[in-house]
Amino acid sequence: MKNWFNETDIDAAVASIKRVVDVPSVLDEGATGIGFPFGKSVVAALDETLAIAKELGFTTYRDPEGYYGYAEIGTGSEVFGIIGHLDVVPSGDEKQWDHAPFDMQVIDGVMIGRGTQDDKGPTIATMYVVKAMLDAGVKFKGRVRFIYGTDEENLWRCMERYTAKEEGIDMGFVPDAEFPLTYAEKGLLDFDLLGPGLSEIMLSVGGAYNAVPDGAQVTLSTEQTTKLAQVLDDLDYPYTLDGTTITVQGKSAHAKDALDGINAVTRLGHGLLALYPELNIFKFLTAVDQAIEAKTTILGEISDPESGKLTLNLAKVEITPEQTRIAMNIRIPVTVAKDAVVSQLQEFIAPFALQYSEIDYLAPLYIDRNSAMVQTMIDVYREISGDTEAEPMVSGGATFARTIKNSVAFGAMFPDTPDYMHQPNERWAIKDMTKMMEIYAEVLNRLFVEK
Ligand SMILES: [Zn+2]
Repeated sequence: MKNWFNETDIDAAVASIKRVVDVPSVLDEGATGIGFPFGKSVVAALDETLAIAKELGFTTYRDPEGYYGYAEIGTGSEVFGIIGHLDVVPSGDEKQWDHAPFDMQVIDGVMIGRGTQDDKGPTIATMYVVKAMLDAGVKFKGRVRFIYGTDEENLWRCMERYTAKEEGIDMGFVPDAEFPLTYAEKGLLDFDLLGPGLSEIMLSVGGAYNAVPDGAQVTLSTEQTTKLAQVLDDLDYPYTLDGTTITVQGKSAHAKDALDGINAVTRLGHGLLALYPELNIFKFLTAVDQAIEAKTTILGEISDPESGKLTLNLAKVEITPEQTRIAMNIRIPVTVAKDAVVSQLQEFIAPFALQYSEIDYLAPLYIDRNSAMVQTMIDVYREISGDTEAEPMVSGGATFARTIKNSVAFGAMFPDTPDYMHQPNERWAIKDMTKMMEIYAEVLNRLFVEK
């Protein structure tokens, strides 16, 4: 296999990654305006990246409203797309960082700074892959286009604009997950179930749609506390007791693996049914809890051979005198219709007098795993990484690959790369970057170079 890079190329990639990592491109909803819909730092990271692209010889385009940009090289109608994102999550508690999160350092061959793994590092480094290939004299079959999103960590408003206004791609990948390759991502549905307000009890337990709640606290009268404790003992559900406050203990898990966790909210709801046997909310929570205990869901078994089982997470319950709200997340197998799932759900909730209210839906990703594109990517990954057993994967997670047709999530982290995404001291080893670049170069060489 051809060796496309020398040390100078690698050093240049690292220097450019630093230029973009040093821009603290965290969504700032409080400081948005025309031309900078996610805040001025986010647009600054986009501009810095487009400047680098221009220096490398790409033609660039920046959405005048500041939602996205792209850089392109080559001619012809066919487009190979590489889709990354330039926004990052906040640094979190800076005391937990050994160095300033937005002043990238290279220490012992490792880049350290927010965005080195997710996703500035892989996005910028891949531009140097294309540059090195052109320097080596290759002619691409068409245009190679880098698409830069700027709202991946939040609401994906960038790609919504991009797909509405710009052309699609014929093949490509998103370097924002793990190797080997993800060809299927389940449909992702966040929704609320709404019911009437209640005067009997106030409750606010649980959290984000994508996490199994690991604790649920309620404060009751002395008499009720004793009764609830008894019921939880009978159910064999662990809890702690502090005066008249009971905290049911669960175990957190990502919603895509909901059955790996223990849902403290449904357990508490199940216990509270004994105190409020007439209240629909606790009848419903008990039904959900019983399904979880039986390792299934209230919708029964829904699955397909392509992507496995539907998962369901009950994330949060709020009861006020005005309203009852239950927040939930469902991950739908790629060949199952969302509408069929929603109507089955509506049938299930009707007896509990709950109303369905959709919050967010992301359509699934599904690319034929036997396609030439997927097979070539997997072959190259196996040859270069030495991981000969690797197979294309299915995921309950979400990448930009589902926003743009004909793309898959491909890298950029290796199975043995320590996962620092969204964490303090985010870092990426230059040797992993180099291996990633070799893989991407060979994929482009086999799929998109004139022979
Ligand atoms: Zn990312």
